[in-house]
Amino acid sequence: MSQLTHLKYLLITGLVFVFLGCATTQQTAAPEAAPTEQDTKADLEKAVEKSIAYEGLFTIYQDTTNGSIKMAIHKDQLDKEYIYFGLSQDGVLEAGHFRGSFRDNKIVKVRRYFDKVEFVHVNNNYYFDDESPLSRASRANISDAVLFTGKIEVEDDSSGYLLIDADPLFLTESLHQIKPSPNPMSRPGQYSIGNLNREKNKYTAINNFPKNTDVIVEYVYENPYPTGSTSGAVTDGRSVKIAYQHTFIEMPDNEFEPRFADPRVGFFTTQMDDQISTSPTPYRDLIHRWNLEKQNPNAEISEPVEPIVWWIENTTPHEFRETIKEATLAWNEAFEAAGFRNAIEVKVQPDDADWEAGDIRYNVLRWTSSPVSPFGGYGPSFVNPRTGQILGADIMLEWGFFRNRFFEEDVLAVGRTAEENIQFAMDEQFCTFGRHFQENNQFGMSALSLLDAPDEELEGFQKEAMTMLILHELGHTFGLNHNMQASTLHSPEDIHSEDLANTVGLTGSVMDYSSVNVNSDRDNQGRYYDIKPGPYDVWAIEFGYKSELDDENQRKAHLERSTEDELAFGNDADDMRSPGKAIDPRIMVGDMSADPVAYGVERIEMSRELMDGLLEKYGTREGQSYQELRNAYMALMSQQRTQTGVISRQIGGVYRDRAFIGQEGGDIPFRPVPAEEQKEAMSYLNQYLFAPDAFSSSHEVYNYLQIQRRGFNFFSMSEDPKIHDMVLSMQANVLNHLMHPNTMKRITDSRTYGNSYSLAEMMGDLTSSLFDADARGNVNTFRQNLQVDYVNRLTSVLDSDAFDNISKSTALYNLQNIRSMMDNKGNVNEETRAHTAHLKTVIDKALES
Ligand SMILES: [Zn+2]
Repeated sequence: MSQLTHLKYLLITGLVFVFLGCATTQQTAAPEAAPTEQDTKADLEKAVEKSIAYEGLFTIYQDTTNGSIKMAIHKDQLDKEYIYFGLSQDGVLEAGHFRGSFRDNKIVKVRRYFDKVEFVHVNNNYYFDDESPLSRASRANISDAVLFTGKIEVEDDSSGYLLIDADPLFLTESLHQIKPSPNPMSRPGQYSIGNLNREKNKYTAINNFPKNTDVIVEYVYENPYPTGSTSGAVTDGRSVKIAYQHTFIEMPDNEFEPRFADPRVGFFTTQMDDQISTSPTPYRDLIHRWNLEKQNPNAEISEPVEPIVWWIENTTPHEFRETIKEATLAWNEAFEAAGFRNAIEVKVQPDDADWEAGDIRYNVLRWTSSPVSPFGGYGPSFVNPRTGQILGADIMLEWGFFRNRFFEEDVLAVGRTAEENIQFAMDEQFCTFGRHFQENNQFGMSALSLLDAPDEELEGFQKEAMTMLILHELGHTFGLNHNMQASTLHSPEDIHSEDLANTVGLTGSVMDYSSVNVNSDRDNQGRYYDIKPGPYDVWAIEFGYKSELDDENQRKAHLERSTEDELAFGNDADDMRSPGKAIDPRIMVGDMSADPVAYGVERIEMSRELMDGLLEKYGTREGQSYQELRNAYMALMSQQRTQTGVISRQIGGVYRDRAFIGQEGGDIPFRPVPAEEQKEAMSYLNQYLFAPDAFSSSHEVYNYLQIQRRGFNFFSMSEDPKIHDMVLSMQANVLNHLMHPNTMKRITDSRTYGNSYSLAEMMGDLTSSLFDADARGNVNTFRQNLQVDYVNRLTSVLDSDAFDNISKSTALYNLQNIRSMMDNKGNVNEETRAHTAHLKTVIDKALES
């Protein structure tokens, strides 16, 4: 325990390294002007005489009396494109910002208009071949954005410099919208940061280099009469500050060749339409990748001219550094397949480094321990939008996800996932892996402890977990997006083979959100997590980086392999994590193995068995509260929630195949899940989620699920365990999917192409599952809750335009059936009579109207 406290101390110490307003780097004199232009020179010199000059791409002068800045733009810099990149150096989640979030990446052109200078965000969504006369109309019906216009204060003809007042450029939101637009989903009275106070905005650092100019601004937002609640991170709701870095980068002048995306492999892209092509898919989507060039272009494998260098931030706990280094270097295997030896290097940021981790010239593995954790890891990169070349990346790691603290809202949230609860706008690079991962780690640690695994096994588990997190986040920084289909590689039996995990991989890709692979058979444990890039990762890195694939035929041959089992791919847009979203049950988060239903059933059984040991393990730890017992209970319940969700996705599922026509091993694009598999899933849901004994109405552990009191916090949430809410939330999580308008429509629609499990049959099975077992007798309180919830859902189907007519007919028919069941109740107890009366009234009212 003391080691843990020590780590926490280290990390908190790390947190204090917030920006301290230190303006560092290269302070030099103003650019020299030619002596013949005495007057103008005098003007320029006069304009900046009380200023410090930060010389670089755009020289910045900061007034030493009031801190205001001016920017020198050389005439040669006009009409040129620059890459603009913006990141939050610090913030609070309530304001939609957190340390290290990459926010903006666009092309900005600096133009002159008479006595003014304009900064224009140039549209980069369309491509016109210069050879075509149509390219002369390339700007038609496309709106660039004029972000800023400023008067030229001094024009120095001899040196060629124009000087502008840069405060209106940087101290406002001209370059980037800092405060998020109002969220249409936000509740009345929800906290808002208010308005920008120009007077309080200030520069905390100006870092200038020959190829990039960084200006870091501390923005202050004020709301004199705030409403709503905030986390402890907001010191005073009336005033919130956000540190934001604006960076201008010179366009790289190199031989970098863009590479175009393919639907069968998952890279981050900059999307671009070819406006002249007559192809049915006129896409020139640039994949994001580093500029790796071979030192020896003729060698099959060569060291790169410039490796990708990763720095371990000096805030990193010492005992993690070796594991992080090993995990980072493990990616070299994938790059070697792509023709590069030692493509990745790892260094440690010295404690007395003269650069900060936010410096875009360094790729840094960073650590934070935030009051409200936005992620467990986050691996963003920024690019040249013209080519897709990755120019820099960071990885943010969140200590909170290694802490033994449980996020109860994940299990208690009704119908909303944790990530949907995070109320801030994020781009496609956002990764909630850490949150998913923490849930798995909590389960893994609890399970191992309940299975009496020795300490060295727990240590091994944690090392694998850390390795997996680093591998995953690094994959993002090389351009890879998620691959949520990768966990379907092995059968539920093979998945426990350590040998197979070490040679092929536990899954096809470290870019999946798979389940932690704990086996209750301790003699046959195998790997918990992947410890190296998987076969898909290697193949994808080859696609992105292998120089031979510039050749059209080789590229085609490489992509032809996409039908191999090891290379299965589907990203976030394809996965079924949210109810009603996406179609293919093989592409899911929290699932594992080629038979996710069998694996899910095994996991639920394991959780149930472990539940019986909770009291003995954690209820006997004298001298401490029951918080740890409760955390372990929540970890077990969250697994049951996740796995029942995984099982439910079979119902109404459609396998999709993205193989191109004629590709060997390819299937037809859409093939519904066989009816017997959908029905099997339904019967497991009955057994593990809906049946009267699915959550035995009494369990000895319920009396002990106590949260440790803290101050007056029970004012907002009373301390009783609320078992019924939790169970209903798990059931609702599945009903949200089964009764989602998309799912219900697809069940009918897919009958035209092979589905033989009709909506009438599915809903009939669901109604049976929810009513048959206690149709004639007493209904326990879990079932009462569930049945009323179901009936309410059926009535709302009737009233909603989101459902098709077939869904409405089915809902109506089931309501009528349930209504007649209510008339046939036998001799039941009083609470069941009350429950029956309730259902009758609700149904009668719905059928009348
Ligand atoms: Zn991720």
